[in-house]
Amino acid sequence: MRAISADYIYPISSDPIKNGVVFIDDEGTILKIGSISEFGISISELENNQTEIEYYKGIICPGFINTHCHLELSHLHSQISEKAGIAGFIKEIVSKRTNFSAALIEQAIEDAEAEMIKNGIVAVGDVSNNLNTFKQKGKGNLLYHTFIEVFDLYAGKADELFEHALGLKKNLQNFENFNLKLPASIVPHSPYTVSKKMLELINKHALENGDILCVHNQESAEENQLFISKSGLLYDALNKMGVAISSIEKTGLNSLQSTLPLLKNFSKLLLVHNTFTTLDDIRFAKKQIEKNTSKVNRIGIEEIKNGDADISICRDQISNLYWCTCPNANLYIENKLPNYNNFIKENVCVTIGTDSLASNWSLSVLDELKTISKYFPEIPLQTLLLWATKNGANYLGFRHLGVIEKGKKPGLNLLKNISELKISMNTEMQKLV
Ligand SMILES: [Zn+2]
Repeated sequence: MRAISADYIYPISSDPIKNGVVFIDDEGTILKIGSISEFGISISELENNQTEIEYYKGIICPGFINTHCHLELSHLHSQISEKAGIAGFIKEIVSKRTNFSAALIEQAIEDAEAEMIKNGIVAVGDVSNNLNTFKQKGKGNLLYHTFIEVFDLYAGKADELFEHALGLKKNLQNFENFNLKLPASIVPHSPYTVSKKMLELINKHALENGDILCVHNQESAEENQLFISKSGLLYDALNKMGVAISSIEKTGLNSLQSTLPLLKNFSKLLLVHNTFTTLDDIRFAKKQIEKNTSKVNRIGIEEIKNGDADISICRDQISNLYWCTCPNANLYIENKLPNYNNFIKENVCVTIGTDSLASNWSLSVLDELKTISKYFPEIPLQTLLLWATKNGANYLGFRHLGVIEKGKKPGLNLLKNISELKISMNTEMQKLV
């Protein structure tokens, strides 16, 4: 057993505990948590090392959840130009992603996973287009939910490409053994890279499998423009690539409002990026989501009251809808951040993603929080940590993670150099458990 204390413990599911102490067993399961005074310990005893308790300056929070990563792109670290916009990014990724040896790609994946573990990440929502990451995932070093991503840019290819995705899912399941779960879903890449036929295949599969889905959303202004007026840089880039953009309907509406009604039957949905999402879009999605959620998979109020639902309750709001932000990738590609005030105002469940090393300088949830804190210093630490832990764990369905509560096994991170309970560029982290 270990007893660990710090200036503050943030259990996330309850208020921060000043001079908190948490007791864990050898497996990292939480046995007890409270303030030191509840356990009859004084601060001077702690500071003078008169107890068996490990004592740290800083705050302790649960292990971080990275809800959006593309581990298979790790070899493209520092290979893609910064601030080239989404059209430039796609062009470079397509031309560069295959010019590397299998050994180099494999090593980059292994190194990137090690980086995430060192950075206190305990679970990852990871997007796969191929099986390059499966061997690493099969080692069980980190928990993953794999999102097998599909896109059908050229007409008449949907069935064939969906079959390929099913094959990848099967391949991933072959890695499973008794102790290792490698859950997976088949998901659309983005509103503008899947046909209606492909969405139908995804919807049907989601219904049959109770899938959680994710989709890239409103990562660029051009994505909105594509649906509003069928014009702009992204339209031109897709046109040049010979993509079947004729299937994209000009709606006069933003991308999310144009396409969300077409994505159905999921149990939970994660919208990723949301850099150019407006307050109107958020309100639209909140209204739309109940219509799209699978009746079979929908979680009822009664189950929540009984405590047996795997569900997120964001500030007492029940949700099947999550909004992932990847601020550093947004700065890397578009040099723009979402307006977080809109998400807070609408009381929706936000999660954190690092995106890939092709579009980020690191795979660190703390680095993402630093960026949010720098540009939105008014967002409280408790809110940032909720986004970085509990919300992501709830979305991915890893119920033992995300909160420091008796019986859970969340991993513990120490955040150092926190002044006035604010994350700054000087904040550092140490993985304790
Ligand atoms: Zn992504």
